Amino acid sequence: MNKNVLRNFSYGVYVVSALDGQRPTGCVANSIMQITSSPATVAVSMNHDNYTNSCIEKSGRFSVSILSEQSDPGLIGRFGFQSGKDIDKFESVAYETVDGLPVITDSCGYITCKVIDKMETSTHTVFLGEVVDGDVPKNETPMTYAYYHKVVKGKSPKNAPTYIAEDNDTKATEKWTCSICGYVYDGETPFDELPSDYVCPICKQPKEVFKKQ
Ligand code: FE
Repeated sequence: MNKNVLRNFSYGVYVVSALDGQRPTGCVANSIMQITSSPATVAVSMNHDNYTNSCIEKSGRFSVSILSEQSDPGLIGRFGFQSGKDIDKFESVAYETVDGLPVITDSCGYITCKVIDKMETSTHTVFLGEVVDGDVPKNETPMTYAYYHKVVKGKSPKNAPTYIAEDNDTKATEKWTCSICGYVYDGETPFDELPSDYVCPICKQPKEVFKKQ
């Protein structure tokens, strides 16, 4: 199979959030689609290993914040490449509470949902959520997964349903690559000459985590 065909599907970039008791947590998802219009229902695919999965399972509710092309890419690093088991992802992130669920301020839309059904696969749970509330707080262009890859130059975490392992023949020539999130530095200043306090624009980790790959 030519796995590149899977790259031709279109997706957005979202932060799916849920509550762990009182504590908000969340993760980046791209596999979200609307299933029916009345009642408005969406499907969300989430890896079993994602902490947010167990929080949705327990609470039966989740929110989806739709990231835009103007959203801070650091949100993707924070919510996509770190675990809510280890850190409080919403610490220092601006958010509002809607229906008791966190929605990210730096997004171009949100919905809140209650889980009405689910399906298990070998690696992911597909949650069906009936939309309870939603709004479009900002008139910005929603970020597509293609935009994230081509313009933000981000990669997919291994837990993403759309993750595709790189084949040897598709590897780029040696470049400074973030070992945490896969961001490839291709700025005009040589990487070695960047200030020591340079941080990865995606996951905000220090210069030391970059390796030549
Ligand atoms: Fe990074």
